[in-house]
This record gives sequence, structure tokens and C-alpha cells, in this order.
Amino acid sequence: MQSQVSSLNEECGVFGVWGTPDAAFLTYCGLFSLQHRGQEGAGITINDNGQLRTKRGLGVLNDVFNAADLQELKGQAAIGHVRYSTAGSNLLENIQPLPFNFSDTQFALAHNGNLTNALTIRKNLEDQGAIYHSSSDSENLMHLIRLSKEETLDDQVKDALRQIKGGFAYLLLTKDRLYAALDPNGFRPLVVGQLPNGGYVVCSETCALDAVGAKFHCDVQPGQLLKIDENGLSVSEYTTDTQLAICSMEFIYFARPDSDIYGVNVHSARKNMGALLAQEQPVEADLVTGVPNSSLSAAMGYAQASGLPYEMGLVKNQYSARTFIQPTQELREQGVNMKLSAVKGVVAGKRVVLVDDSIVRGTTSRRIVKLLKDAGAAEVHLRIASPPLRYPCFYGIDIQHASELIAANQSIAEMRETFGADSLGFLSVPSLIKAVGLKTGAPNGSLCVAYFDGKYPTPLYDYQESYEQEQAALKGCLKV
Ligand code: AMP
Repeated sequence: MQSQVSSLNEECGVFGVWGTPDAAFLTYCGLFSLQHRGQEGAGITINDNGQLRTKRGLGVLNDVFNAADLQELKGQAAIGHVRYSTAGSNLLENIQPLPFNFSDTQFALAHNGNLTNALTIRKNLEDQGAIYHSSSDSENLMHLIRLSKEETLDDQVKDALRQIKGGFAYLLLTKDRLYAALDPNGFRPLVVGQLPNGGYVVCSETCALDAVGAKFHCDVQPGQLLKIDENGLSVSEYTTDTQLAICSMEFIYFARPDSDIYGVNVHSARKNMGALLAQEQPVEADLVTGVPNSSLSAAMGYAQASGLPYEMGLVKNQYSARTFIQPTQELREQGVNMKLSAVKGVVAGKRVVLVDDSIVRGTTSRRIVKLLKDAGAAEVHLRIASPPLRYPCFYGIDIQHASELIAANQSIAEMRETFGADSLGFLSVPSLIKAVGLKTGAPNGSLCVAYFDGKYPTPLYDYQESYEQEQAALKGCLKV
């Protein structure tokens, strides 16, 4: 899910439940455990005996829902969404689930991902008179379903799914069923669980199943359409032209460490990344530290494999400050840091291996190296548990311009200099693939690694031209 405005973005999280009297409350609990996937908007649509009702708003879940709201949202099925909006697009009409009221029925949809042919579809349909309610790419699916000439709703949904391209995990709630669909490459994670009463849950990560007491049932597979209704769960395919290429950034950064994706625990995968990083990028040092919270698993792996002690060199404030008291750039430069602090007693006088999970724009790396140096660290060796991010992503991470990526613009030696680190090393692509270890024998071990090697598993459709122009402009600038 994204709008036409581009900036560094996180993912979204979706949660759906069918067949339980406390659907809104379970959806709230599930979304709460998916809050890391988006903090700028949240919403829930409930199905109360065939009537759909939606509440959505800006902010984190607790800004949008209070106890009275959940009491009021009575229903036996629901879908919900947490969203990270881009600058300028944090308008209420873009917050999901997107509700649709037709003269004959109602729908609500929630989407994680990014469609690569959204603008083409929208332009075609607008030329034919369609009126869109939002600036979100996600809305296209609803228009295509309604315009489909197929007879049954199942076939209309399949017909629509075959026309959209890119990354998508969709939930669609109707008056009598819940659909879940995954794109042909399975770029985004989507899992099914079962509640003790037999009801079903479909959501972005297994951590949300644990949060509501649901038992893992299966990972949704690329190209599948699931339907849950009064007859239970049924699985079919809208296409068999599939090739799993799940986003490697899910394993590196996005997903929660307690989630499993296609049977691989995220924390364990990150530990493996850290361990292989220690083999590929060893350094003489006194201790290893991570950047809370996203790189702690990789830092543990690095420490174990290198035999160096794992230490708490950085601490993260658990509370988020009010946006109006975020420090200005000027205050930041004076060293005011609302989120992270260095533990002086641990790092002073020490040669520190600082492990982070990834570098996007380089802002964090510059800041954390400086924090450790200011706290008296004798040396700071920055080790990144993923390869240099050099190419944009068009399937849902929303890094759509290589110009935003420091590794697309600077060599490793230049980045080391920019960050003020004593050394800098990254994990290789083969080691990333090995660390995750999905064993299907598929290209890149069933991972999408296009942000590292520029080899996209699908055509880029609407983005092809601007991508080529940007690559041509960058050519010659990159000194790896
Ligand atoms: P940056 O400061 O721009 O280099 O961002 C790097 C940090 O942000 C890393 O430490 C990651 O934990 C985190 N990160 C990685 N990918 C993303 C993303 N797509 N959106 C937001 N944060 C990210």
C-alpha cells in the first residue's frame, strides 16, 4: 500500500479474522503486535451480521481506538490494517481498510505491498469514468472486481487479481466472506491461523497469531486466493505462473524476531546473518554491540561466531516522544538524541564492533558511530548484516529512488569516511541467502534480493522508464 508521493517508507500490516464473537477486539490485539509495520494510520472494519462498519484514523492504534470504540464495534468477522504513510498522503481517505458502499453490497479491503501497474490501471479506468476515493494504489483492486464480466464473486476476484502487478497481500471483507490473496511472487508475508473455537485468522506475521491465541495453520502461497466463509476455509489459485521471491528485507529488518516466515524464524535468520558476517568481515576488537532493537539478533550472531563478548553498548528509550518535542537538526547536531544513548561504562576505551541490520540513507550510521566515539570508544568498526542497498524497491518497501540510498552514491571507503567509522563491512548476497536458508532450490533461495543486485524478478511496468533514467544518471557515479 502506498500513495503516489515517494519517500522512505515502512511496510504495512494486515490482520483478518472470521468466526468469533469478539472480532474487533482480536483484530485490535493482532494489529497491536503488527504495529512495527506501520505507525501512521490504523483501521478496523467489522462485519456485524452482514453489515460492514469501519473506523480508521491517523496515528498508532492507541491514538485511533479506545475501549469504547472496541465495545461499539460488535461483529463476528473483521479486517484491520496498520499503515505507514508518506509525506503529504496521510489523509484519512488513504487509511485502510478502504470501505466501499455499493447500492447492492459492501466491501472493505486492506493491502500490504505496492502495485507496479497502478497508475496505468487508474488512468485507463478514469478515462472510462471511474471515480477513485483515495490516492492509494490499493483501491484499484475494488474497481477491477466490480468491472469484471465473470459471473461469480470468486471468479471476479480472480479476474481482478490477474490484472494487477507487483507486491500484494490483500484482505477483502464482504457481507458473507473473507478473501485473502497473495501476489505471484509472494513478496509480502501472509499466514493463516486457527482459533480454539475453529474460527480463522489471516495476517502478515505469525507474531499476530500468537498475540490472539491462534494456532499456525499455513503460509499463504504465491498466486493463491483463500476464501473463508460459513463453510470454513477453501484454497484456490488465481494463477499458477508463480515463483516465490519473498522480500529479503522482511528477514533483515521488517518482521518481528518472534515471527516465522515459510518456516524460518526471523531471529534465527538474523543470528545466522551476524555469524556469516563475522566470518566474512572479521575484525580485532574488544566487544560486539547492536543497535536496539532491530539489529540485536545479528549482533548476537556476530559475537557468538567471533568469540567476542556481546555487550550493551547502546540503549534505546522505550517511550516515543511527542512529535512537537522532536529535536531540530540544530539540536541533533549538538548531540540531543531522543532515542538512543551510548553506555559509556561499557564502550569507553574499547574497540567496538557495531553491528546494524542495514543502511538506507546513512543517517543512523553517522549518528551511532558518533554516539560511541563521543562516549569514548577507542575504535568503532561498523558491520552491516545485509549487503549494500543500491537499488530501489517497487514491491512495497517504497524506496523508489536510488538517489535516496547512500550505497548507490558512495563507495564503501567513502561511506566509512562519511560515518567516521574505523572500518566498514557488509554481508555478501550469497551469505544472506544462506543465512535465511529457505530450501526450495529456487533462484536466490526464494528471496527477492533486487535492492542489492538490481535483478528484479518481474517487469517494472509503470516504474521502468523512471528507473532506467535514474540508473543512467547514476552510471559512473558509483565507485564500489
Ligand atoms: P538510515 O538511517 O536511513 O540509513 O536507515 C537505516 C536504519 O533504518 C537501519 O538501522 C534499519 O534498522 C532501518 N531501516 C531499514 N530499512 C528501512 C526502511 N525501508 N524504512 C525505515 N527504516 C528502515
